[in-house]
Amino acid sequence: MRCPFCSHLVTKVKDSRENGEGDQVRRRRECVACGSRFTSYETVELNLPRIIKSDNRRELFDEDKLRSGILRAVEKCPVEMERVETAISNIKNNLRAIGEREVKSIKIGSWVMEELKGLDKVAFVRFASVYKTFAELGDFIEEIESLEHELPPELKKNQLDLLESDGDEN
Ligand SMILES: [Zn+2]
Repeated sequence: MRCPFCSHLVTKVKDSRENGEGDQVRRRRECVACGSRFTSYETVELNLPRIIKSDNRRELFDEDKLRSGILRAVEKCPVEMERVETAISNIKNNLRAIGEREVKSIKIGSWVMEELKGLDKVAFVRFASVYKTFAELGDFIEEIESLEHELPPELKKNQLDLLESDGDEN
């Protein structure tokens, strides 16, 4: 969460507690750059559809989880934070626009891939190694293969590992 005083992007959570009903989390944060402290309130977006995971369990859409997945994918790539935030809001808009009460996680994965493709090709391929389950998707493998000739050798190796993995989660 961006520091409201100096706009630095990294803040530490000092304290975290749920309110009485447990539908809101209050976090005390401290900016690692300027040391300012502030409070953030986190609530579930009830208007967003629930996510159907590959094992059929349902969970609430977790924006933080999506953000950390994308940030892991774009790590050390020349991608500005603004563009990551735009990608996240595009994905949330897709979720709202789809008009369903539940959406398969794989669908979100395909939206993430669309966004990453526009952000950075290396990040796009890296996403695949973070979310190995998507390797099961035929069209995803085609995407990866179509990028192959543009990849540096170390990523080609990762890609091979990915395609040979047995698709177990995490
Ligand atoms: Zn700050």
